[in-house]
Amino acid sequence: MQNLVLRGNVFNGDDYFEDEVVIVDQENGKIANIGRNGEVDMPRDAKVLGGPGLTIIPGLIDSHVHFFGSKAYDLMAWVTAPETLVALRSVAQLRKLLMAGFTTVRDMGSKGGAHLARAITEGVIEGPSLLSCARSLGQTGGDDDPTTLPLHIANELSYSYYCDGPWECRKAVRKVVRDGADFVKVYTATGSTIEPFTAPWFHLRRQFTVEELEAIVDEAHAVGLKVAGHAIGEDSMRNVVEAGVDSIEHGMALTAEIAQEIKRKEIYYTPTLSVLLTNPSLGSFVKETEKPDTLYVRRHVTTDMQLAKEYGLKVVCGTDFGGTDEQPHGQNYQEIVSLANYLGNKEALVAATSRAAECCGLQDKGRIRKGFVADIIIVRGNPLNDIEALAPVNIVNVIKRGQLI
Ligand SMILES: [Zn+2]
Repeated sequence: MQNLVLRGNVFNGDDYFEDEVVIVDQENGKIANIGRNGEVDMPRDAKVLGGPGLTIIPGLIDSHVHFFGSKAYDLMAWVTAPETLVALRSVAQLRKLLMAGFTTVRDMGSKGGAHLARAITEGVIEGPSLLSCARSLGQTGGDDDPTTLPLHIANELSYSYYCDGPWECRKAVRKVVRDGADFVKVYTATGSTIEPFTAPWFHLRRQFTVEELEAIVDEAHAVGLKVAGHAIGEDSMRNVVEAGVDSIEHGMALTAEIAQEIKRKEIYYTPTLSVLLTNPSLGSFVKETEKPDTLYVRRHVTTDMQLAKEYGLKVVCGTDFGGTDEQPHGQNYQEIVSLANYLGNKEALVAATSRAAECCGLQDKGRIRKGFVADIIIVRGNPLNDIEALAPVNIVNVIKRGQLI
């Protein structure tokens, strides 16, 4: 099979270099070599891509998505949508994600996630490499339990397994392992409905006890799976940190003390800014600067992000997009744009490439380095100067596992 030769400026996942050459071995799907133009041995009969004004970067990673297959941001729609329709819509969205430069995404809970991942691996459908938690875990009556339904119906329809007490929690982990999960996702606070974020009187209460969360973490780690903890509110944040999850999702209501612990335990922090900023009701709320910072959503885009920066937390790109009309897959680069506002373009790019790969446990992805998986995109312009270079319209080529899409 032909090799690919990519020419241009390179952001390799850590640093930026001008006038480089990247050789892709299409046979094994890996990066065969990288170096300065003129100093690298060129393979014969290679297909040449790239050129002046283009930047070669690792394929983007969105570490927090869902495939709900529903047009609306609505828990009841997510649990009741016909599964065939959900699957068909998800297939179309996966293709959009790939064409938008996302070569890996991590599904934080959707009924069909593990099946979609399998279909992609088998080459039946086209999409980014998909890491799935199979079902998410929640407590009975918790965040993603549609409580207007009788419990047995909710159990039947939900994209989560509800579990209570350490042993049920351990069993739920064993069930997702059986379902083919690549990691474990647990809801430890409310947050799937919008109201709590904008209601100052509402105290966000934790879900699950530390004992339950420790059981989940222990059971997942025993089989080599990482745990992603959806955490909103100080109680929930303290609990996930104490239980030792691997990444904190949303992470709303940071304090200096919690940030210090996150740093000490080297937990990844995924603030999922874009799902908040693109939500019609929340977005306007965030932008009204006179609203007090005590409201969770305001606090998140001000104090939380300042603390994350101050304490040097390992911030990761994750949109929490579910494929709804307001948060469509394919526009996921918006999270990188949002992160760049706080961290600068380079750090936002790191969050969406090398650090996101590390957060997901993918040791041979997220960097353009010899021997790494050849997940690479070529973009028009330089995202270090203008982050809009990552917009879908500026994606020139997408290479996944060495194959030109
Ligand atoms: Zn989510």
